[in-house]
Amino acid sequence: MECPKCGAEIDKNAMVCPNCKKVLKIVCPVCRTVNTKNICKKCGEILVTKCENCGKINLMKNQKCAKCGYSTELSALQAESNAESFAVIKLEFPNLDLIKATLGSNQIFTKFMANLDNLIYSHTQEIGVRRQIIKNHIYLIRFNKVYTLSASANGAIATVIELANRLTRLNVKLLAKKKVSLKCNFTIMRRDADQDPYDIDTGFKINVLGQTKESARQALAAIQVVTDEEFYNAYNKTYTMESLDSVLVNGQMRRFYEINIKDLIRIDEYLKELNSENDDGSAEVPNFVQEALEQ
Ligand SMILES: [Zn+2]
Ligand SMILES: [Zn+2]
Ligand SMILES: [Zn+2]
Repeated sequence: MECPKCGAEIDKNAMVCPNCKKVLKIVCPVCRTVNTKNICKKCGEILVTKCENCGKINLMKNQKCAKCGYSTELSALQAESNAESFAVIKLEFPNLDLIKATLGSNQIFTKFMANLDNLIYSHTQEIGVRRQIIKNHIYLIRFNKVYTLSASANGAIATVIELANRLTRLNVKLLAKKKVSLKCNFTIMRRDADQDPYDIDTGFKINVLGQTKESARQALAAIQVVTDEEFYNAYNKTYTMESLDSVLVNGQMRRFYEINIKDLIRIDEYLKELNSENDDGSAEVPNFVQEALEQ
């Protein structure tokens, strides 16, 4: 191939042009995927960023700007943020070990995780936000492209509701076929563009969830949405919020709330869909398991 910068004939697998030193491919420092774009196609990590302090282009794997020493992570976050403060969704799956054990093999679990990611990624693509997967399959979705905190808070809850629906649809199938559900803990938190982007610990421990009695609707119990007092006013007029514990965060007491979105989850539709699948006998196992088995 030809180097897009200097035109020299170079090997198509070259990571860097040997002639002009242009970087052609970048290995993601988080998941090791080889990328040709600025954002990792697999995990959503930003790979190259322009220093907000001095303008130098840096690889994100170097944590500091090679010229002035400014944090490259902060540069990346500031570059994509249009507001100083914004809402971030943290999505955690606390019982993945159980899901893995229930699915029975690494191969099926890997396929399950790929399908799970696709379900999340396809939505974040639609609405033009970046989803980032960090350690332990934790997802971060930042609503930092809008200009106000309230627009950001609205974007975050709308996304939580959409993802909760997609995950419940998955859980209805999982419960019917495998008698387990994937627990999904959403936390909506406020963060600032000049804060460490990986400071995602709220200090709040989400309790083990109670089970609803009606077993077919158990999928609803797998979803929990928590926020703290920063967003109380943004959400309490529209949603039912239940006060949870207060927790000492950085020397200040902060109250957490559960947002009840159960009425906004179209579980009856998913149960109906499941029943009609059962009627024609074609869905002995959920599609994603089926697909994994066929590989
Ligand atoms: Zn070149
Ligand atoms: Zn990656
Ligand atoms: Zn710099």
